[in-house]
Amino acid sequence: MPELPEVETYRARLEPRLRGRTLKRVRVHDHRLTLPLEPAEVEAQLQGERVASVDRRGKYLLVRFESGLALVVHLRMTGGFPEQPATHERAVIELDDGSGLAYRDVRPFGTWHVLAPSELDDYVAARLGPEPLGTGFTVGFLAERLARRRAPLKAVLLDQRVVAGLGNIYADEALWQARLHPLRPASDLGPDEVAALRRGVRHALRRGIERQGANLGDGAYPSGSMQDEFRVYGRTGEPCRRCRTPIEKTRAGGRGTHYCPTCQR
Ligand SMILES: [Zn+2]
Repeated sequence: MPELPEVETYRARLEPRLRGRTLKRVRVHDHRLTLPLEPAEVEAQLQGERVASVDRRGKYLLVRFESGLALVVHLRMTGGFPEQPATHERAVIELDDGSGLAYRDVRPFGTWHVLAPSELDDYVAARLGPEPLGTGFTVGFLAERLARRRAPLKAVLLDQRVVAGLGNIYADEALWQARLHPLRPASDLGPDEVAALRRGVRHALRRGIERQGANLGDGAYPSGSMQDEFRVYGRTGEPCRRCRTPIEKTRAGGRGTHYCPTCQR
């Protein structure tokens, strides 16, 4: 599933193509994309809109228009904007410069919603905590969120209201970076450990953005190189890059979770 670095990579690529352009024609081929609205309604909402900016909040792409409306795209499992023509095309946008933009989703769980400014604020506030690379993601905020929860650390990190944009890959990488065991109860962390976790989250996400995300080869990811630098994710049985102990895999929050049994206590 694309996480913050992968969505940010799409954002950075889309912004120069879309900014200042008018959506001339929009065709949605899969009615599930726009539920509960019909594709024709969303097509009509979008046609003629001029793009002011392409932003991101957590794992959501926000295409903001000069009218104030925004197209909110959630890629879910496999959504994306391929550079090359591809299969499983769910929608196409024709721009006023003659170029086209295809949206692809192998497993069609992605969503497109058009929201007014007031709706957008409520939509985001109900779903997402502060941006982990922004100023709102403080040690104090994180400490307060963790203190309320007895659940394993890994499960709490996947809660988008705690760390917006974090998913399975970068949660594992962040915990390794912070030397914290994924099954520790979240509320047990001391102040130094919370600070280390915050640094670990930010470090893992920044590295992911620098590498233009991870490419796990199923066509759902932008063509980044983060997968070559995973510290623990997908490395079960391979030596820890710090201490050479074989990486182990367990389950936390219903997700496969990779960690070093020596470094992560
Ligand atoms: Zn280790």
